[in-house]
Amino acid sequence: RAKQDGRNQHAFFTQEMQAQSARTLQLESALRNALSQGELEVYYQPQLSVDGQLVGAEALLRWKHPELGFISPAEFIPIAESSGQILRIGEWVLRTACAQMQRWLEAGYPAHTTMAVNLSMAQFRAQGLLKLIADVLQQSGLPAHCLELELTESVAMHKPASVVQMIRELRKLGVRLAIDDFGTGYSSLSYLKQLEVHKLKIDQSFVHDINRDGSDQRIVQAIIGMAHGLGMLTIAEGVETSEQLQQLTLMGCQEVQGYLFSRPLPAAEFDALVRGKGLLPMTSQA
Ligand code: C2E
Ligand code: MG
Ligand code: MG
Ligand code: MG
Repeated sequence: RAKQDGRNQHAFFTQEMQAQSARTLQLESALRNALSQGELEVYYQPQLSVDGQLVGAEALLRWKHPELGFISPAEFIPIAESSGQILRIGEWVLRTACAQMQRWLEAGYPAHTTMAVNLSMAQFRAQGLLKLIADVLQQSGLPAHCLELELTESVAMHKPASVVQMIRELRKLGVRLAIDDFGTGYSSLSYLKQLEVHKLKIDQSFVHDINRDGSDQRIVQAIIGMAHGLGMLTIAEGVETSEQLQQLTLMGCQEVQGYLFSRPLPAAEFDALVRGKGLLPMTSQA
């Protein structure tokens, strides 16, 4: 009986795994044509100072497959990474997002507004990243200080010495750097000090229960204290309620991003929201 159950379970897992790898293969192959078929689009989510002014946007990639519908980045980004497609797709995101922010600056957004773009490990490690960034800035006309590159804490933790060096080189280009999903990795204070990034993005998992969970509250307080001690800014991700906003403000967090303000939106809707909600200073509303 037990043996029988075991066998059934085994068959069940095998089926699950087969279905899973069939989907991965299907997505991997569909992704090869997604860009040329116009199935990829960059969405933008506003980043605000706690007093409600627009400080930037984060570029978040969306894939709408003709039959499968929207596929989550949580599913397709890892596939793009493991199949090596992230280099090509990531470059397109960079070019698209920088060109978009340059148009918005020309249309009156404040001169310091930033465009945050996520970089995968493979992109960060690729030969020619510096040249690519320099080229993207030159082609788009976007001032270097308006581009912010987001690295996850796990990318930053991998081969620390070379990461420190690459961050220095990127800083020389004048771009800004942020550590994404901060608090989920294990970076030490001394390492963080060497990283010389401009901003820490407090992971949304700590923000979620910040009004209820004392230990999440203390973790966020510690991250903010550490960041400020090192001269870095903090932004909280995943802010969904005004209570969370209030708590984060009280704790000294400077910037926020989340569904409370807006979901990630297509460019035109982002601009309509920003103008409709009056998130730009009066002088920029032309
Ligand atoms: P991330 O960079 O940490 O982005 C934050 C994620 O949280 C986004 O999910 C965003 O839509 C979501 N989010 C924003 N506000 C809220 C909120 O208030 N509540 C909740 N529950 N979620 C919120 P998304 O767009 O599905 O992206 C997931 C991840 O995929 C990103 O995490 C990033 O690591 C990766 N990703 C997305 N676009 C790109 C890209 O162009 N390149 C690379 N390399 N990775 C990307
Ligand atoms: Mg990010
Ligand atoms: Mg994040
Ligand atoms: Mg994340």
